[in-house]
Amino acid sequence: MPVQERIQQPRFLADAMLGRLARRLRMLGLDVLYDPDADDHLIRYTSRRESRLVLTKDRRLAAILGSDAYLVYGSKVAEEFTSLVPLLRHLACRFDPLSRCMDCNEKLTSMKHAEAEGNVPRYVFASCRDFMRCPKCGKIYWEGTHSGSMRKGIELMLEEARGP
Ligand SMILES: [Zn+2]
Repeated sequence: MPVQERIQQPRFLADAMLGRLARRLRMLGLDVLYDPDADDHLIRYTSRRESRLVLTKDRRLAAILGSDAYLVYGSKVAEEFTSLVPLLRHLACRFDPLSRCMDCNEKLTSMKHAEAEGNVPRYVFASCRDFMRCPKCGKIYWEGTHSGSMRKGIELMLEEARGP
């Protein structure tokens, strides 16, 4: 896939070892497919079919995929993220934090306030105006779904990815 196309709308595919990293990238609004059961064959097939850049720690797989893969380093998820920063900058990724379901990778859609009644705790319904829903799993998100520490984590990731 031409680099230009990736810059417009980077799409990723995380291999089986990178589930936690995939969730973090989704928190930032990036499009990251992740299937813990996908084998190398399926990863290669999906990468080609959907023009997705494969994120992997597997040197052998990265070598096979060539420019369709990016080798991730690190033993902790924060280190894995740091190893991705040069790529994120190169791709000029457009971040849109908390716009995507962390479980499914689907873009969240807004829902009417009244629709949330009975589907979220009463105090949440009473105190929040804006609700978003995952069209795939139905999970409802609202301001406060993400804890303070998670929001802090998102801020730190954005700072790191955007650079000085
Ligand atoms: Zn979902």
